[in-house]
Amino acid sequence: MRVIDLRSDTVTHPTPEMREAMYRAEVGDDVFREDPTVNRLEEMAAERLGREAGLFVASGTMGNLVALLTHCGRGDEAIVGDRSHTFLFEQGGMAALGGITPRPVPNQPDGTLRLTDIEEAIREDNVHFPRTRLVCLENTHNMCNGTPLTPEYTAQVARLAHARGLRVHLDGARIFNAAAALGVDVRELVQEVDSVMFCLSKGLCAPVGSLLCGDTDFIAGARRARKVVGGGMRQAGVLAAAGIVALERMTDRLAEDHARARRLAEGLAQISGVEVAPVSTNILYFSITDEVGRTPEELVDGLMERGVLLLGRENGRFRAVTHYWITDEDIDRVLRAMEEVLA
Ligand SMILES: *Cc1c(COP(=O)(O)O)cnc(C)c1O
Repeated sequence: MRVIDLRSDTVTHPTPEMREAMYRAEVGDDVFREDPTVNRLEEMAAERLGREAGLFVASGTMGNLVALLTHCGRGDEAIVGDRSHTFLFEQGGMAALGGITPRPVPNQPDGTLRLTDIEEAIREDNVHFPRTRLVCLENTHNMCNGTPLTPEYTAQVARLAHARGLRVHLDGARIFNAAAALGVDVRELVQEVDSVMFCLSKGLCAPVGSLLCGDTDFIAGARRARKVVGGGMRQAGVLAAAGIVALERMTDRLAEDHARARRLAEGLAQISGVEVAPVSTNILYFSITDEVGRTPEELVDGLMERGVLLLGRENGRFRAVTHYWITDEDIDRVLRAMEEVLA
């Protein structure tokens, strides 16, 4: 039985074309800037996002940390969403490694931060206070139902931040999903922010890696920060080669994943006792009511016995993520399995 893995889009394996490109990749020592494949990927990423420069990093977590270390010094403060990946799931790396205080502000259900909340969180110049340096946004917002932030909203935050002398970092792990869902060019989503990170290793199917993009000075600083956290890789072209295929081939098909997530949501909503959250990209959250008489563990285990993997999360919420290796038939099989387990 083929396993249908909906736990995350990080479970995606490289495509045959990626493996071929990895095999053939021209490489060099990237710390010396001599890996032609990494150089090409960094240029391509910057071009796609409309930024001056790009930096290949080992993971999204490293990209966000390196951005924070570049924008902020020790004792500075960064405004973050209280449901953001950077605040919840990155070990507090900004504080642990950078001496940066995270200042959480409530994420609204659509993943935004209220402009007034941001404004109120910005510190005055006072000897008692840390200095506020940065606002972080997340697009699409993982914990807020995978919702995309619009270009208009992102620009509003950037203007507010810039008017107060702050910079803006965008955790765009799934920024191409946001562009696909909103039907806009990815440049529109990032044009006013100072830095943006996106992942190659999620819906874009590459095995490893993320890109951090920004202006030339920012990326020069980020290159130093990447080295000190151990991210100076050598013949990384074997990884970057898959990333190039990801950027060339995988961004324009993400709407298919969104359509499958929607179909899964519609099917789940027909099953009594299942409550489905709004879905706009490839991330779907749902919960089961007490009336079905199954614990979250029983549901996860029952599905696993039927070859379906998904994540049970806090408060009895479940997460299912569609991706390249999930087909229409898989969605039908998942719905049948759910009906059986809840019957
Ligand atoms: C996955 C993810 C990251 C971190 O990426 P890793 O490559 O897993 O370190 C950061 N932000 C968001 C929103 C993510 O979904």
